[in-house]
Amino acid sequence: MFGQETVTHKRILIDVGHGGKDSGAIGINGIEEKDIVLDIALGILSLNEKSGTPRDIYLTRYSDTLISLSDRTKLAKALKAGLFISLHCNHSDNPNARGVEIYVANSTSQYSKDATWLAFQLQAALNKELGFESRGVKFFDFQVLRETVDYCPSVLLELGFLSNLDES
Ligand SMILES: [Zn+2]
Repeated sequence: MFGQETVTHKRILIDVGHGGKDSGAIGINGIEEKDIVLDIALGILSLNEKSGTPRDIYLTRYSDTLISLSDRTKLAKALKAGLFISLHCNHSDNPNARGVEIYVANSTSQYSKDATWLAFQLQAALNKELGFESRGVKFFDFQVLRETVDYCPSVLLELGFLSNLDES
């Protein structure tokens, strides 16, 4: 998924959103965002371990625990991550809202170009491989993006809508 050479060999920190008493969004069938993003992250780890050329991937949490936003970004620095990917799921009052949104920090840095490039690559890959509708690449200073923008390329994924029956 990370074709560009500059990104390929870097250590990747996957930030698993929410956790513990912070459930995140709750789907119509009662499923909680914190559990979905953990399942996805653990799935990525297991696929990575099975692949012939595993990448250097860490998670901000491996179980149902709550970690503060600033501890997540401190971890990126402590691990010298070359890439920070925050996983979330969307929720909307509109039950028909669907698809994937990918956010890049609105603040710019030397890493902005790589982050934006990656966001478009991920958007295209999720559409092609998993059939997720693209809602576009957006720019917003979420805390985890704002605090990593000067450190490495960072993106935040909103993977589908828990409020949509098809996607939850
Ligand atoms: Zn979230």
